[in-house]
Amino acid sequence: MSIQIFGLPVSRGVAIGRAVLVASGRVDVPHHFIDPARVEAEVTRLLTARDVVNDEFDLLKRDLPSDVPTELAALLDVHQMLLQDEALIGAASDWIIERHYNAEWALSAQLEVLARQFDEMEDAYLRERKADLEQVVERLLRCLGRDETAAATAASDMAQSDFGGDEPLVLVAADISPADMIHFKRSVFTGFVTDVGGKTSHTAIVARSMDIPAVVGARQASNLIRQDDCIIIDGDAGLIIVDPSPIVLEEYRFRQRQSELERSRLARLRHTPAVTLDGERIELLANIELPEDAEPALESGAAGVGLFRSEFLFMGRGDNLPDEEEQYNAYRRAVEGMKGLPVTIRTVDIGADKPLEGMTPSELRHESVLNPALGLRAIRWSLSEPSMFRRQLRALYRAAAHGPVKVLIPMLGSLQEIRQTLEQIHHVQRQLTESGKVWAPCELGAMIEVPAAAMTLPLFLRHFDFLSIGTNDLIQYTLAIDRADEAVAHLYDPWHPAVLQLLANTIAQARAAGKGVSVCGEMAGDPAFTELLLGMGLRSFSMHPTQVASVKQRVLRVDTRRMQAIVPDVLSADEPEQACQQLLSSMGASLAPKVASAA
Ligand code: PEP
Ligand code: MG
Repeated sequence: MSIQIFGLPVSRGVAIGRAVLVASGRVDVPHHFIDPARVEAEVTRLLTARDVVNDEFDLLKRDLPSDVPTELAALLDVHQMLLQDEALIGAASDWIIERHYNAEWALSAQLEVLARQFDEMEDAYLRERKADLEQVVERLLRCLGRDETAAATAASDMAQSDFGGDEPLVLVAADISPADMIHFKRSVFTGFVTDVGGKTSHTAIVARSMDIPAVVGARQASNLIRQDDCIIIDGDAGLIIVDPSPIVLEEYRFRQRQSELERSRLARLRHTPAVTLDGERIELLANIELPEDAEPALESGAAGVGLFRSEFLFMGRGDNLPDEEEQYNAYRRAVEGMKGLPVTIRTVDIGADKPLEGMTPSELRHESVLNPALGLRAIRWSLSEPSMFRRQLRALYRAAAHGPVKVLIPMLGSLQEIRQTLEQIHHVQRQLTESGKVWAPCELGAMIEVPAAAMTLPLFLRHFDFLSIGTNDLIQYTLAIDRADEAVAHLYDPWHPAVLQLLANTIAQARAAGKGVSVCGEMAGDPAFTELLLGMGLRSFSMHPTQVASVKQRVLRVDTRRMQAIVPDVLSADEPEQACQQLLSSMGASLAPKVASAA
């Protein structure tokens, strides 16, 4: 029977495929198809891992000190029994044989199936055995990870990723952390669904940067969808259809083809200059997460990078944070990749929904910190870790010797933070000069993303060369709504008059001071806001490379003088809906921008 599940639309388009259920924090398990000729070898790999882990258990049991509680020995027996159970290894082998999953993927797929069965058990004791099963699988995965032949064959298997019929795979998880999204970027999945998350959570942002259909905040999705179900992800409507009827399937396949056509049509704008009808030249920049994203940024026709979220180099690495050399090489790669175009690199924005240790945002929210979005985040974190901050600054100024770099500081809120930041920068510049290292000066920018900054702009304009407005956080902090929390997602509204007034005022003051100002939050890449932002005087937008063409299309049709005249009416609205309607009626449009909105 077909069922529909609703969530938040975060990344446009339609994905149709087989569901792969992945436990939170397990996206980094290698997922790839194996060459059909290697099925037998892969099963042997799995069985060998089982035998190795079994020997480990034997050894553990043999070496148990005599004074340990007897329960521990009994627990090891339970683990060994689970390891030998055909429902685990036998069924995982079937995934390898029938669907050509690699051993790690087969194991985690089977773990998901069994975990559900445990969850449904009435007996509390048996239900708790799920944790034991997870530990056994963890051991097996570790053992498989030590297998060096696997890494060698994985690369050639990746090329086979469309094997197994022409069915694409879509990922379903309770939660995917932004750190996991980096693994996801390199995986075979063509779309994803999560139970939690908001429209501007970083998981959603990375999905948009990849331009793959995604729905977050779908509550019960990972309970309702079963491994291998056929599902449709409608990233425009925030809808998931499980086991669709043939007619619905055909309708969505048609829509998929239509949106591919639309994309190739838009791609033709790549070399067209972004100039409005009244001759205003508009700067369209790219947001990136990793140095290799420079390539799609360049291909999109972006005029540079307006936001490199450097924290993605730091996430999911435990204590092994990148040192100065590794960072320098990464920034340099991004700079060289942009071939002389400017690259704005933001210092780390760790914290909130981007924790360091690979914890999921929900774990962080509920267990370790009460209000991470209001806690030790971004520049606050950097200032509390001065040696780490200086390492990053040194790497940035050294990379600037290879091309135009601008340094951007996130989440500043007070003069004290500005002073401390400038002190660190001057210290690092002196250090670099004294040590004879090659470096170059950079323009320095401040992100305006907390109301305190937006309301004390003269301070910022005095100390910085340019401003970049982070609307994702500016909205979150102005409206007191956690951007990653699906429970309050309906209240997160860029059209709120308070947000629009802060935006318009920041743009106007920066322009009056003769300083550069851009928007790098999700509003910049949403064509529903292009005209309004142009009317407010914005001339620089930074967005995912995949959004550049759609925004450019809007830019080409705008007369900024006309839009400027409309802005006061929009700003005088009392409520979001009214602001939106005011813009529409003034523009003479009939479609609600909220509906047309891609994000
Ligand atoms: C923002 O807050 O708008 C922004 C661009 O930064 P991030 O989304 O990384 O917090
Ligand atoms: Mg931000």
